[in-house]
Amino acid sequence: MVGERGLVEKKVYIETYGCQMNEHDSERMLRVLEGSFYLETKEPQEADLILINTCSVREKPEHKVYSALGRYKRVKEERGAIIGVAGCVAQQEGLRLLDRVPYLDMVIGTHAISILPDLLRKVESTGKRVCETGFDEKGTYLKTIFPTDSLPKVKSFVTIMQGCDHFCSYCVVPFVRGREKSRPSAEILDEIRHLAERGVKEVCLLGQNVNGYGRGLDQEIGFPELLSRINEIEGIERIRFTTSHPKDLSNALIKAFSDLSKLCEHIHLPFQSGSDRILERMHRGYSIVSYLERIERLRAFRPEMAVTADVIVGFPGEEEEDFNQTLNLIRKVQFDDLFSFKYSTRKGTAAAQLDDQVEEKIKQQRLVVLQEIQREITLRKNLAVEGRTEEVLVEGISKQSDQDMTGRTRTNKSVNFQGDLQLVGKVVPVRITKGFAHSLRGERLLNAS
Ligand code: SAM
Ligand code: SF4
Repeated sequence: MVGERGLVEKKVYIETYGCQMNEHDSERMLRVLEGSFYLETKEPQEADLILINTCSVREKPEHKVYSALGRYKRVKEERGAIIGVAGCVAQQEGLRLLDRVPYLDMVIGTHAISILPDLLRKVESTGKRVCETGFDEKGTYLKTIFPTDSLPKVKSFVTIMQGCDHFCSYCVVPFVRGREKSRPSAEILDEIRHLAERGVKEVCLLGQNVNGYGRGLDQEIGFPELLSRINEIEGIERIRFTTSHPKDLSNALIKAFSDLSKLCEHIHLPFQSGSDRILERMHRGYSIVSYLERIERLRAFRPEMAVTADVIVGFPGEEEEDFNQTLNLIRKVQFDDLFSFKYSTRKGTAAAQLDDQVEEKIKQQRLVVLQEIQREITLRKNLAVEGRTEEVLVEGISKQSDQDMTGRTRTNKSVNFQGDLQLVGKVVPVRITKGFAHSLRGERLLNAS
């Protein structure tokens, strides 16, 4: 098809599994592919290129990948579409994927996104199949891929570092994403300025442990200083980041929450378990007392600070007593929300060697108990916001009703209220009228100054 630019344009369909980081990687793939005149389609049947971007951190996606590949085989037969697998499964399986799936054209490892156009060109021009799963030690794969005008947004993710050196005993990230590598701050700041010029109001800095930012880079600034420089960028109104490791949460970072006006008062600080014994087996490097101290300090600087976290139930050797300690921690901290997971064995990790695995039935029971306790806490917290006026950054039309707009408070709570499309990208005052388990309802204040 000949596009507006007079160039032959093709269509790419990307199926994404997993976390925010993977969603952002899919967005990066779209950006690099635009340079090769591939535009996104939401319909796999009309795609010239189909990419399956996989994540294996919490789920075992292999089965899902093979069944997706089975579905798209027809598109290959009918349209000659090129098919690729990216992300964790591509990284782990590499050539095995090409061996098992004869109609698969590309295996794109976690460090290969920036060279995707080269790989694609090779397939298009030679018909040969490609597999790129090397780790790029220089970090060129992290280079900025500037967004084009076709992707205007209110908020955007910005990767500031990749990989991880922590090797928590349950986690596959260091194996599939490689070692920790920070991007130079000058590049990050350039990217954010570019986003601000295109109307982006909120940036969320991404990395496995953003508070370790700068480690291993000579003469690089630390994370609090990076935040402070982003705070100066005109046009950016809100800054968020995820994820922080409790071990690396410095006093300087805690203080940044009170010094930097654009830094939103929300932190995602995974604790994983409320039992010191289990934390030690997880190789997490902190104790529950020190975790609680950090929460206390954060709340001393910003009493309204929202705190969310990740927690795992059923880690090998977790006894009823350990699980009760996890519940105690949840009751004590009163998290705004929790992402809770059943432990799932990952090949190659240290915990996979432990022989005291917890029965699936017990893991499931514990998850249900924990989620019910958290559901009540989240609801109570959302009810407590009723009557308050919150600054809401408007993101777009609500999924619940097309008469409503949706946005988020600085504390990252989702708010729906009556409004119109002209509000998108603006921060407006909204009086909260109702708190629900997963969102808030409010009324926009028209006369607020
Ligand atoms: N780097 C972050 C940290 O240290 O908190 C978290 C990154 S990890 C990609 C996201 C979450 O997935 C973890 O916090 C953990 O709760 C969960 N997770 C990782 N491996 C898991 C496993 N094998 N089983 C269950 N949950 C897992
Ligand atoms: Fe995984 Fe631990 Fe690294 Fe987080 S810190 S990515 S949980 S190894």
